[in-house]
Amino acid sequence: MRVLVFGGGQLARMMYLAGCPLGMHVRAVDVSKDIVINPISKAPSKLTLAEAIEDTDVITVEFEHVPERLLEIADQTGKLSPSIQSIRVGADRVKEKSLLTSLNIANCEHQIFDDVEALPDVIKNLGMPIVLKASRDGYDGYGQWRIKQPEDVQSVTKELAKLDLKRVPIVAEKMINFDRELSLVGVRSSDGKFAFYPLAENRHHEGQLHLSIAPAPQISTQLQQQAEQYFIRLAENLNYVGVLAVEFFQVGAQLLVNEIAPRVHNSGHWTIQGADTCQFENHLRAICGLPLGSTEFRSYTAMVNIIGGGSFSREMLGIPGCHLHWYGKSPRPKRKLGHFNVSGDCFSALGARLTDLSEHLPEEHFPLLTEGAADLQKL
Ligand code: ATP
Ligand code: MG
Repeated sequence: MRVLVFGGGQLARMMYLAGCPLGMHVRAVDVSKDIVINPISKAPSKLTLAEAIEDTDVITVEFEHVPERLLEIADQTGKLSPSIQSIRVGADRVKEKSLLTSLNIANCEHQIFDDVEALPDVIKNLGMPIVLKASRDGYDGYGQWRIKQPEDVQSVTKELAKLDLKRVPIVAEKMINFDRELSLVGVRSSDGKFAFYPLAENRHHEGQLHLSIAPAPQISTQLQQQAEQYFIRLAENLNYVGVLAVEFFQVGAQLLVNEIAPRVHNSGHWTIQGADTCQFENHLRAICGLPLGSTEFRSYTAMVNIIGGGSFSREMLGIPGCHLHWYGKSPRPKRKLGHFNVSGDCFSALGARLTDLSEHLPEEHFPLLTEGAADLQKL
């Protein structure tokens, strides 16, 4: 099977690696230049984009912000998976909120506006603190502004006044005082079968994912089921095929959906070492019409993102159960450069290994690691 991925970053790279043992050939498209590249070396292919589209069995995406023009071309070939409407919903917070509401899926109290003049009313209706999110093209916390106190209003108003809100409206959300963040990564096959990984606990710093722990500690059967029911409702409505990620805020025994991602997801990277079949392989299986692989977890696993920069030795690879996944990118502030997967037989063993790992890494780039490790050791 031949697969063409729109987007040439680390997710396409990990799909390529997962496809190799299955005899699949994965190519990527740099959508900013309309060129076909090798997902590992990034070397341009001899094929033009049109030729690569012709010469592939399936087209998929590694991120939702693919230009509409390219999505339409892909859709017209009948080879695009997941569907164009699934990708559009993931790319546009206005569409996403309206789908969640129409499917009766609990989400954050919110208000949408397309004129900066409406901001005072929005603040009055929702109350402070709120988070404002550009409805399109945001990721890793970019395109977001927080209003925590009246003094923040002026600077945020100035920022919003620079934008074309008629073209990209703003979704204002009440800031949720959640207990923790969770995500459900699951997969739906082309014949409508589902498989779910256990919920993962995700820890963010400055709007960006730093640490995922899977399975998330202390998850009741009811909570896992609630997450799966929301997932099924969304995926069936979208006639979804492939891996889908749903991000949640846990508030007591309730889950609120934060957002959905119509693709393989950073909070699913732990599955490479921690689950029977990783999310990348399962995505390829689903979109290629193959049976899904087991999503059973094999070991308690943490995924630690390597963000920004800083050089460090490779000594930590001596820690049992520690695996490095390096994406081959040059360092830049806030850029995801790679991740570690660390596994153990129980949470406290995993915590001890993460403590070892933290001793090899600079605290400024891994601000949540020490505390995350200590929390696991207490379990
Ligand atoms: P990513 O691409 O990493 O998923 P994103 O830019 O798409 O991020 P969100 O997931 O909407 O943005 O927000 C990033 C993080 O900001 C969330 O994971 C959460 O930590 C925090 N956050 C977002 N919305 C809220 C909210 N309504 N209340 C509290 N915290 C929030
Ligand atoms: Mg998110």
